[in-house]
Amino acid sequence: MTITKKGRVFSGARPTGRQHLGNYLGAIKNYVALQEEYQCVYSIVDIHALTTVETTENLRQNIYEMALDWLAAGIRPEESIMFVQSQVPEVTELHMFFSMVTPLGKLTDLPTFKEKARQQPHNINYGLVGYPVLMAADIALYKADAVPVGVDQAPHIEFTREVVRSFNFRYNTNVLVEPQMKATEFPKVVGIDGQQKMSKSLNNHIELASTPDETRARVMQMVTDPQRMRRSDPGNPDICNVFSLHKVFSSPEEVAMIDTECRRAGIGCVDCKQRFAKNLNLSLEPFREKRVALSDKPERVWEILDDGRQRASQIAQQTIRDVKDAIGLP
Ligand code: SF4
Repeated sequence: MTITKKGRVFSGARPTGRQHLGNYLGAIKNYVALQEEYQCVYSIVDIHALTTVETTENLRQNIYEMALDWLAAGIRPEESIMFVQSQVPEVTELHMFFSMVTPLGKLTDLPTFKEKARQQPHNINYGLVGYPVLMAADIALYKADAVPVGVDQAPHIEFTREVVRSFNFRYNTNVLVEPQMKATEFPKVVGIDGQQKMSKSLNNHIELASTPDETRARVMQMVTDPQRMRRSDPGNPDICNVFSLHKVFSSPEEVAMIDTECRRAGIGCVDCKQRFAKNLNLSLEPFREKRVALSDKPERVWEILDDGRQRASQIAQQTIRDVKDAIGLP
């Protein structure tokens, strides 16, 4: 495949179904913007999901809903490659080759592994240990030049770079590319509880595909400046989650007004949240319209994913051929 842009970007996300504001600001918005400069490869990493999911009952539906949200948000499948990880099985082959150049102790020492092991002590499976190796294989398989991630993900990219270096060194080759990290603008979106990262499992999220009324109801539940007890108390927008989201979805004039008025109790939190809900709903209108149109033809979403699978496979098969040649395998 000819690359006419700056290079290739790869990113993967677990199929978590309908996406929320945290997914949008932390990843999808960036995915859409990167299409201007890079050839983008976006994977719905369903194999990764198997390390932690209790049941696969909703897996297909979650893949579909997530793909629908990506498309509605502006991923252009005619330019970018959007596919499901398990449908390009070469990744598991590269994962196996990478496992031979990865010290086991390095994997068990990773903070992410320790954290997962703590979270699910009844199910410390091999997949949890090998997770970063599979992630490195995802990235290297598509010879990605850059990977968009939040700063908290930086150690994973560094790990990938080390695995690629070890492989290239061990087999005296340069067939694999060491990817660069592209830091995302908005790495952490706090949930409506005002404390923890927005997440479905914590039920502190705002779904992109919710109706305007549902969205407004969620926004009205948002925790604001915890020191502001009464309407007459001055607030501090610098520590208020509503304000940090106003900065993304409201006009600079309105943001400046809230910044000033909140500090002198000139605006109440109810009014402020209503304004935010209105602006958020306005911003999400095009997304929702496109989503409704796309969901009228669910088979179209699967066709797009299948087209992505074919284009991803072409790159993957070539990489595996290069890798096998480098190792000396027939
Ligand atoms: Fe936050 Fe707005 Fe309330 Fe100020 S007025 S504390 S910015 S919600």
